[in-house]
Amino acid sequence: MTMRPIAIMGAMQEELLGLKHAVQGAHTINMGGRQVTTGNWHGHPVVLVLSRIGKVAAATTATALIERFDVAEIVFTGVAGGLAPGVHVGDMVVATEFLQHDMDASPLFPPMEVPLYDRAHFPTDTTMTQRLKLAATAILKNPAQWIDMEVLHELQVHTPKVHSGLVVSGDRFISTSQESQSLQQRLPQALAVEMEGAAVAQVCHDYGVPFAAVRTISDRADDTATTDFTRFIHEVASRYTSALLGTWMANRASA
Ligand code: SAH
Repeated sequence: MTMRPIAIMGAMQEELLGLKHAVQGAHTINMGGRQVTTGNWHGHPVVLVLSRIGKVAAATTATALIERFDVAEIVFTGVAGGLAPGVHVGDMVVATEFLQHDMDASPLFPPMEVPLYDRAHFPTDTTMTQRLKLAATAILKNPAQWIDMEVLHELQVHTPKVHSGLVVSGDRFISTSQESQSLQQRLPQALAVEMEGAAVAQVCHDYGVPFAAVRTISDRADDTATTDFTRFIHEVASRYTSALLGTWMANRASA
């Protein structure tokens, strides 16, 4: 019996580089302008791909992975802006559900509801999400194992925490306090904001493919959102991603 692969999608190149090195028998092909790497990780076939940024890019990538590689499940990793108070730079957010904050077909449909789906919220897979949460907690218990503590202190990360709950997506990089506050008022449950998750969640809903997502908080989606973004991705987020997904894959192999 051949095992259907697990898809790992990331929005940024830096995050995927570390993963590519970890995978055995890596083979890269081109698909719709994206580089797709297949291989084995902890004894399981995987497909790694850069989704690129935004909902359309992410939805196209997810659809192609399902149709062409018959992936058994999709896990998304990336960075996000913290929204709820208490969600700080360096924390991780494991999504339990997604919503498109920029979907608005009112007055035909309620704001943020996806037309013809009768819903605004798309849940993630409970089992995968639970396992991601365990892996994230294990990584953040001892961040020094993965990341230079001096770098974390310079980036003002002190005791990183794991959160789980609603993550919202839209085709906007949120980088003003005004916009961030208006999102928080509209969606008080939202822990974080990014640009892809809800699109992948919708595709996975259509195809009945289990989906989970974890995001490292890179900024507070406010006026300081662009500060040290690049440095954060290189020195913190990409390392967390490799450690987290390595743990996640290893745990599933021994489960
Ligand atoms: N300056 C970066 C911008 C990338 S866009 C660059 O040139 O590459 C930001 C990416 O990180 C998206 O994939 C999105 O999902 C996520 N993200 C991080 N912080 C965000 C924020 N404040 N608002 C929206 N998306 C954010």
